[in-house]
Amino acid sequence: METTIASISTAPGIGGIGIIRMSGPEAFEILNKIFVPKNPESIEKIKGYTMKYGKIKEGKNDIDEVLVSYFKAPKSYTAENMCEINSHGGIVIVRKILDLCLQNGAEMAEPGEFTKRAFLNGRIDLLQAESVIDIIDAKSEKEAKAGVKQLEGSLSKEIKKIKQEIMDVMVNVEVTIDYPEYDVEEVTQKELQTMLESVEKKLSILEKSFDNGKLIKEGIKTAIIGKPNAGKSSLLNAILKEKRAIVTEYEGTTRDTIEEFITINGIPLKLIDTAGIRNAKDEVEKIGIKKSKQIASEADLIIAIFDSSKELEEEDREILELIKNKKAIILLNKCDLENPKITENNKEFENQKENILKISALKEEGINELKEKITDLFKINQIQIDNEIVVTNLRHKNLISKAKQQTEMAQKSILENMPIDLIAIHIKSILEDLNAITGEEVTEEIINEIFAKFCLGK
Ligand code: GDP
Repeated sequence: METTIASISTAPGIGGIGIIRMSGPEAFEILNKIFVPKNPESIEKIKGYTMKYGKIKEGKNDIDEVLVSYFKAPKSYTAENMCEINSHGGIVIVRKILDLCLQNGAEMAEPGEFTKRAFLNGRIDLLQAESVIDIIDAKSEKEAKAGVKQLEGSLSKEIKKIKQEIMDVMVNVEVTIDYPEYDVEEVTQKELQTMLESVEKKLSILEKSFDNGKLIKEGIKTAIIGKPNAGKSSLLNAILKEKRAIVTEYEGTTRDTIEEFITINGIPLKLIDTAGIRNAKDEVEKIGIKKSKQIASEADLIIAIFDSSKELEEEDREILELIKNKKAIILLNKCDLENPKITENNKEFENQKENILKISALKEEGINELKEKITDLFKINQIQIDNEIVVTNLRHKNLISKAKQQTEMAQKSILENMPIDLIAIHIKSILEDLNAITGEEVTEEIINEIFAKFCLGK
């Protein structure tokens, strides 16, 4: 890696400080051309993990007063020589300092290039690098924790353990293939069988952890449906108001739905409010119903809300039809009004009794009970990531599934008395899949694709 890269590492905009990062063989040389420390020292004398105070200069002009952190190879984020210039925040100054770095020989870093270098220099494996993105993008505490655990290498270690198990047995297999005159085949087959069973079990646990991982990462996709004026928007407001921990807020993927994240016991809930459907008329109305159906079919959880002050109508029955065979909670809203026309005793709710709650979205009553119900339904309290390795990344999950399929095929080949070299092919592809997870066997395109998801300066 001959080039030295630079980029702004703090978020764009105005902040208390801004950080410009440089990494590469020329990092300190370039720094010396633009930075005049108050107490100058030769670079050899400056220890890693220290800071120096001084001024960034362009010729004779002072640009800013800064603190510079020094990291010396290989003890840095990228394993190269690195420095971080902490300047006063503000777009103009930070850009100016970056420009000075570039004018003096640094190249503009690509998104994720610092982390990519850490990977290419062998400081972290691909799996750990990917967990850096997960930590940055985390929408909940549990998700961030899972990311940190992966960065520490818990999943990498487990994958390595599995690989070692395979390799221990493969040595004997290679001997059998290379020197068929040695009669070790029988022993090897038994050994292979035991090893494959054990590997399959471990892969299977990892594969299953993805479901929890997915919940942690993507959240429970929750659709709020109900006829116009049932109280969908009021419910959403009540939920969001009580829970201050709104992590992300953005326009829904479809124009007329709103998606919002809240967390319940550390698990994100992605709320999809179909409020946009409410003003639909005639033709559009049909599209609305179609859309409700689609959203309902894709949701992990449906919150069906009914206006209990009005008789059950055709539209309500359609909604009841929609939630059949789905994880659903029925809310009888407006329980603050007297003389309800709908109660849990309506025959339409016969098979749903245990999931009915009376609430008042307006008075914010019953919201905690709703959250408890969701916790129960998804066993959120049982999702413990502290002692468990959780796979959260789809790329990893797919490779684990592929490797598991190969263990099944290898076992089948043994049962069918296939020659050992054919069995070995399956076992080698298990190793290849596992190597692709940690990055020992991935193509450049995949690497580029992974790092392109990073933000600049990371
Ligand atoms: P949406 O069309 O399903 O989104 O329904 P809204 O949330 O806009 O509510 C429709 C109307 O019902 C509004 O006037 C709300 O103030 C009212 N409303 C919603 N929830 C309650 C409730 O729990 N009690 C009472 N009394 N009125 C409510």
